[in-house]
Amino acid sequence: MSAAFPPVFAGRRFAVMGLGRNGFPAALALASMGAEVTAWDDDPAARAAAHSVQLSESLEGAEALILSPGIPHTFPSPHAVAARALALGIPILSDAELLYRAVRASGSKARFIGVTGTNGKSTTTALIAHILKSSGLPAAAGGNLGPAALALPLLPDDGYYVIEMSSYMLERIADLRFNIAILLNLSPDHLDRHGGMEGYIAAKQRIFVHRTDRGIAIVGIDDPHSRAVAASLAPHLIRISGEKTAEVWCESGTLCNRGDSILTMNEAAALPGTHNAQNAAAAAAAALAIGLARPQIAAGIRSFPGLPHRMQFICHADGIAFVNDSKATNADSVARALACYPRVVWIAGGIAKEGGIEPLAPFFPRIAEALLIGRDAPLFAATLARHNVPHRIVFQLDEAVPAALASARTHAASVVLLSPAAASFDQFKGFPERGERFARLARALTCSPPAGKAA
Ligand code: ADP
Repeated sequence: MSAAFPPVFAGRRFAVMGLGRNGFPAALALASMGAEVTAWDDDPAARAAAHSVQLSESLEGAEALILSPGIPHTFPSPHAVAARALALGIPILSDAELLYRAVRASGSKARFIGVTGTNGKSTTTALIAHILKSSGLPAAAGGNLGPAALALPLLPDDGYYVIEMSSYMLERIADLRFNIAILLNLSPDHLDRHGGMEGYIAAKQRIFVHRTDRGIAIVGIDDPHSRAVAASLAPHLIRISGEKTAEVWCESGTLCNRGDSILTMNEAAALPGTHNAQNAAAAAAAALAIGLARPQIAAGIRSFPGLPHRMQFICHADGIAFVNDSKATNADSVARALACYPRVVWIAGGIAKEGGIEPLAPFFPRIAEALLIGRDAPLFAATLARHNVPHRIVFQLDEAVPAALASARTHAASVVLLSPAAASFDQFKGFPERGERFARLARALTCSPPAGKAA
């Protein structure tokens, strides 16, 4: 079904900057496609770990610089290597662009589906690939959620690449054309990297400029920014919603396409909440555009296993559910999680995003107690204090999880939710490490006797 790439870049030269989970596989893939690759990372440990890569900061003779998504080329200030590339007129590209070029150079007509938005990108990307695969179509998902775009295999003509496109990646594409381009939603995020909300929206909108001639735009209409984008697009536009009438939308828990129902969302155990209804609507719209039948789409959505760290049920301890939503790093995504539970013990904190947790105020009545971790625990505590929400600063997750169990018992809450509303880098390597630690700590509680009972 899929194959390795032929040497489509033989005799060509590329520079790769950043040797993390994106850059390292990109460097290896380009080399395996025949290119001469030089690569660099400012971190000596990353350089030392990058076996079989020719290390150099030089851009000499490079036709493009492949810059990892985490490295800025504009705001807040360009990285030195990016600045050099800009001065030399060397294009700065994302690995998704190179994947596209490699696929076309290999002669494959496989189609490209791009997924962007502030929240729900990974879930929707994985869900689309799952629906397509479970309907028997060759499909590969990657990009921002991993694996890196360039680590994906060569697909045949009837195959589909489903690529999660961050705003950074969208700023670094040139020839790439999507057959289907999806924008789920827009709320403030990563504004420092885009010079403000306007720059952020402009980067996201690039996904529609990079469509094939008859490429389809799928746009969420559940927030004012995305609605404005949808209003500016026509034709080949499919509007989707997790809550209000559109072309594909969810009404009273039923996912519908125009007048016909696809499935009831409570059949999809891994996709709780209206936010996931939005993701499912987008995935269903893409699958319908491809020509899949409603029962095939329903079967795919029903059997979707979900992604780790996104409202992932971990275990019950003493009848209390522990839910890992470590990926929720901004207020908007936490709001979606809190909306799913009437009474929770909430674990939050880390490096706060602009605006903090004030936008979550409408959900504060659902919080039986908040346990705050990480650098900005005092900041969150101040907001919660203003709203009279019971809270405690514990700083460490290791302390927060057992304390949350005790708190849930005391306050008769049935759920402990890790949904941090903050980045993790003050205490963890990233959100996966934070989520895994939470899961381990929660599972350990299932072995420990409930308080007040003898062992
Ligand atoms: P992304 O890849 O865009 O960061 P994910 O699919 O990884 O999004 O989901 C991250 C978190 O965002 C989830 O844990 C959930 O709380 C929230 N979320 C998921 N989908 C949506 C959506 N459509 N709208 C708002 N929040 C969402």
